[in-house]
Amino acid sequence: MSNVTVCVRFRPLSSRERKIHEDSVCVQGLDAESFVFKDDEEEDITFCFDRVFYQDSEQADIYEFLALPIVADVINGMNGTIITYGQTGAGKTYSMEGPSILECDEHKNGLVQRVVDGLFEHMKSSTDTVTCTMKLSMVEIYMEKVRDLLDLSKDNLQIKEGRNQGIYIAGVSEITVANTSEALCCLARGIANRAVGETQMNLASSRSHCLYVFLVQQESAIDKRLKIGKIILVDLAGSEKADKTGACGRALEEAKTINKSLSALGNVINALTTGKTGHIPYRDSKLTRILQDTLGGNSRTVLLCCCSPSPSDASESLSTLRFGTRTKLIKTPMKINSFEEKDNKKPITNYHTQSEFRDRIL
Ligand code: ADP
Ligand code: MG
Repeated sequence: MSNVTVCVRFRPLSSRERKIHEDSVCVQGLDAESFVFKDDEEEDITFCFDRVFYQDSEQADIYEFLALPIVADVINGMNGTIITYGQTGAGKTYSMEGPSILECDEHKNGLVQRVVDGLFEHMKSSTDTVTCTMKLSMVEIYMEKVRDLLDLSKDNLQIKEGRNQGIYIAGVSEITVANTSEALCCLARGIANRAVGETQMNLASSRSHCLYVFLVQQESAIDKRLKIGKIILVDLAGSEKADKTGACGRALEEAKTINKSLSALGNVINALTTGKTGHIPYRDSKLTRILQDTLGGNSRTVLLCCCSPSPSDASESLSTLRFGTRTKLIKTPMKINSFEEKDNKKPITNYHTQSEFRDRIL
């Protein structure tokens, strides 16, 4: 049983999309794990994932399914990671931060606020003999360079591996925070710094990966034993193809670098889900190297594939879904037969084996 969960989230249509396509969408839900993807230019395809969140999903549902088990693991001294993948505009940042990191809206808060809250809740209830500390860092990876978002003077940090610490970013700012609001203020500074850096370098935030790192350290007063758990939340760079934007020069280089690191991530997760022992290619990108000890082993990994439901984004959504399927093929979509008969929809290709399905869609 692998510790990797692959989920999909479709954001609601924007008002602009509604104006163009009215309510038409390219996803037709079957159940909580599968849906039919409809693209005028392709045959309908049924996809299955560990969980599908449709347009009406709530931020709290996302937290509960994706993050709650990891929060409990971190308190028990284990690691985990949650990664949002998808084209720019697909809802990655909304899923992570909600509309704003400081807005504090119970309904709209994203994974970041909820994870911080969840960790502090656990920490508050720990026994008197244990001292709990939370430290956070925030970095950005742009063109394979790691930049400290809490101290912009550190713009090319190195990744190291220590005998006791595991993988760490040498010299990164690690801020100790005492409660949720302190943590969120600190992260808001990181987000503002990110915007400053982008303006200075004329970048778009969608071209870099943003990582929120939370370390929970618990020290027992009795035997001085230390228990350290780590969760990394990753808001990936947009996965859109370069040719669509007619990229050249730096934009093309950016796209190639992003593509390489996303492929490296896909390869690592795939190696973990297929249970292959032996070489896992963590060293193929800065991203997978930083994530190394939060991916694999007894760490839980969640990939949230964010998609637009709009017919005009169908080809990018399909490529996101294919990425999700490549990283982890969930199961053969056999239930499509009953769907076809009941709803009398246009024929859907049936697949009888996983490899047939894989060959058809990948
Ligand atoms: P990305 O980070 O993938 O580029 P964003 O998270 O910025 O995309 O989302 C693009 C737009 O869609 C934003 O205006 C955001 O507020 C909106 N949006 C995304 N997901 C949702 C959602 N689940 N509910 C409401 N609005 C959403
Ligand atoms: Mg974003």
